[in-house]
Amino acid sequence: MTAHTIGHDEARRLIAAPRDALDDLLARAGEVRDRGRGRIVTFSKKVFVPLTTLCRDYCRYCTFRRDPGEPGAHTMTPDEVVALVQAGARLGAKEALFSLGDKPEALFPEHRAFLRRMGHRTTLGYLRGMCALTLQESTLLPHVNPGVMAERDLAALREVTVSMGLMLETLSRRLLEPGMAHERAPDKVPARRLRTIELAGKLGIPFTTGILIGIGETLDERVDALVAIRDLHQRWGHVQEVIIQNFRAKPRIPMRDAPEPGFEDLARTVAVARLLLGPDVNLQAPPNLSAAEYPRLLGAGLNDWGGISPLTSDHINPEAPWPAIRELRRATEGAGYALRERLALYPEYVSRAEFVTDRLRARVAELTDGRGLVKECHEHWRSW
Ligand code: SF4
Repeated sequence: MTAHTIGHDEARRLIAAPRDALDDLLARAGEVRDRGRGRIVTFSKKVFVPLTTLCRDYCRYCTFRRDPGEPGAHTMTPDEVVALVQAGARLGAKEALFSLGDKPEALFPEHRAFLRRMGHRTTLGYLRGMCALTLQESTLLPHVNPGVMAERDLAALREVTVSMGLMLETLSRRLLEPGMAHERAPDKVPARRLRTIELAGKLGIPFTTGILIGIGETLDERVDALVAIRDLHQRWGHVQEVIIQNFRAKPRIPMRDAPEPGFEDLARTVAVARLLLGPDVNLQAPPNLSAAEYPRLLGAGLNDWGGISPLTSDHINPEAPWPAIRELRRATEGAGYALRERLALYPEYVSRAEFVTDRLRARVAELTDGRGLVKECHEHWRSW
């Protein structure tokens, strides 16, 4: 714990504090944020690459996963990956965010056959191949988010990525019980996820993690998960970003009737995370709330908006880039902060040789300035 952080007990107390104490909590977290991160807020211009929507888990809040044969079930071919990352590069994206289901080959023979046709045995092997192809055929830098990984998988993927991620989501084993969010999700056993995050630290991989709020956890359990992330980061120094993600109810998911966390709940959690993790950690929440509300998260301690795509998933129109970045800039500047683009590798890791894989060092250096942010000459969105 540094002079600017709080302990486990105080975090548990603050997350349950009465509503009339919220403004003070947010102001306190905002001050810590400003002390550590200054008045700069970052985002990454990325293209989302849904390598496969097949997954062996059945998280009850998931809108992404499919079984083979369901509408939307798809594993991208190498040609599809190349077309997508090249389209993203033409629009100035720097990050290829590979998102995919966890170990679908364990459950689906059709997926095993697909992998065999592509010359691979595992989805993670295929993912490595697609990251290498992305580096060969485009200017984008891969960041991968493929679920639980063993040490050999992490080591192999490290060579073709600038960073990786795995949401811890929760530390609660209760959520694995019947009727709970992770009942049919063997890859959501908290100890397995902690192990992956720890191994990434051991291998010097800049790592993104975070928690998912509103999936049945208690407030104490929420704090426990943040403490576990803090402890891993204190040991290995590799957690480049902590995401506070809020559950959203959608018609086609089993948890469609579950209540969503409100804005106050999200803001309070961001603030407690900032106080617990300290002034230097990068804290992110997706800005998918109403325009009137999300800038308030800056005052609660947030300093990053995450990945923003210049492409929609189903419509590519280079003449009219997705307006989200323009809106984000207006909202950020309106709150008194400057918006800057970062890579999928956070600025403070750019100059730390042990965190940048040799193969990508020159590319990272070419794109970044002395502070590790994207050089302004590469921030094409500024002229929109
Ligand atoms: S692991 Fe869970 S959240 Fe991730 S894709 Fe599979 S079902 Fe969805």
